[in-house]
Amino acid sequence: MDYIQTGKDNFMHTYAQLDVCFDRGKGCWLYDTNGKKYLDLVGGIAVNALGYGNEKLISTAEKVMKEGIFHVSNLYYNKYTVRAAERLNRAAGSDRVFFANSGAEANEAALKLARKYGYPTGRTKVLSFEHSFHGRTYGAITLTGQEKYHKGFAPMVPDIEYATYNDLESVKAKVDDSYIAIIVEPVQGEGGIIPADPAFLQGLRQLCDEKDMLLIYDCVQCGMGRTGKLFAWQHYGVRPDLMSLAKALGGGLPLSALCGYGKASDVFTPGDHASTFGGNPVASALAVTVIDELEGGLADSVLAKGEHLRAKLEELKVKYPQVCTDVRGLGLMMGLEVTLPPASIIAKCREKGVILCSAGYDVVRFVPPLVITEEEIDIAVSVLDEAIDESLN
Ligand SMILES: *Cc1c(COP(=O)(O)O)cnc(C)c1O
Repeated sequence: MDYIQTGKDNFMHTYAQLDVCFDRGKGCWLYDTNGKKYLDLVGGIAVNALGYGNEKLISTAEKVMKEGIFHVSNLYYNKYTVRAAERLNRAAGSDRVFFANSGAEANEAALKLARKYGYPTGRTKVLSFEHSFHGRTYGAITLTGQEKYHKGFAPMVPDIEYATYNDLESVKAKVDDSYIAIIVEPVQGEGGIIPADPAFLQGLRQLCDEKDMLLIYDCVQCGMGRTGKLFAWQHYGVRPDLMSLAKALGGGLPLSALCGYGKASDVFTPGDHASTFGGNPVASALAVTVIDELEGGLADSVLAKGEHLRAKLEELKVKYPQVCTDVRGLGLMMGLEVTLPPASIIAKCREKGVILCSAGYDVVRFVPPLVITEEEIDIAVSVLDEAIDESLN
C-alpha cells in the first residue's frame, strides 16, 4: 500500500501532513517505511519522554494487557488507575485527580470545575492569555488566546477573556469580581516557547488569593519532567489550585489529568463530570512507570541537557545573527527564534534526517525525548547549522 497517498485520500484535511510514514523507533531514533533513519527532536510533540521502544513501558503494558482488561468503566475501581492517582498526587503534591484522555479534555474539566466553584457567587469569567494554547475542543479553543484558531468557528464559549502574558498590569486591568479563574501555561509552548517571569506567576497567585479565584496551570506541555522539574511551576515555587497534564503522562498512550489542590480538589460531586475512557488501566500503569523514571533521576538530567542545547543554539545565534534572533526556554523545552520561515528550515533538516517542529510563526521548537544524549543534541544542531547555511546560499 502507498500509505502516504492512501492517507491523503482518506483522512479529513485537518493536518498539513508531511510526506513521511514512520514505521518503528528506538530511543530518539525513528525509521520510516523506506528504512530511512531520523533523529527525532519532536518526540510526538513532547509526548515520548522516555523515547521509543522503552523496555519498561513495553513490559508494563504487556503485563496489564495480558490480564485481559484493556478497559473497565469508571463505575468501578481498578488497581492501575488507583495506583496512578496515588502516585501522581504524591509527585505533584495535589490532593485529588480527575483522569481524562487529552490535554483539551483536562482543560475542559478545569473550566467546568472553575465555573462550578463560582456558581454560588455567580462568578463565571475566566482569564486566559494571548499566545496561549489549551487545545481544540470548544472550551479549550476559546481559552486559547490566538485569533487564528477561532476563525470560522464562532460563537466561542462566553465569559473568557485574554490579558498579555508576563504583564501583570494587563491582568489587574481586566480582573474584577465577575472572575473565578485564571489559566496560564508556566512556559507557553505552541505560542512560541515563552517562560513566565517569576514575578508574573507570583503576582497571579497573590491576585487569585485576594479574590478567591482559582489559579489553573496548563502543564500539558511543560509538565512531566520537560523543563527539568516534574512540573515547570516547581522552578518558581508558586503552586496552582488546578493543574492539567497530558502529553507525556501516559508514556505514549492517551492519558490526561486534572490535579486539584486544597479547596479546588473537592468541587465536583457525583454526576458533575465524566469520561468513558478517562484513566484507562494500561495508560495509567504506564503513567506510574513514567513518574518513577522521572523521579528516579531522568528529570534531574534534563536541566544539564537543556543547558547544553541552549549553549549550542547560542553558538548558532552568534554564527547567524541575521537568522537566529533569540534562544529561550527551560530544560528540554527550547525555542530558536528565526527570521527565515521555520517550515523551510525544518524541511531541510528532515531531508538530512533530523525531525524538528515549529512553535508560533517564527520559532523552531525542541521538545525531544528526555532520554536524548548530549551527543545526539550535537548531531541535531550540526544538521540545523547546515540547513541554515544552505538557506542563506
Ligand atoms: C498540546 C497542548 C494542549 C492540547 O492537548 P491535546 O492532547 O492535543 O488536546 C493543551 N495545552 C497545552 C499547553 C498543549 O501543549
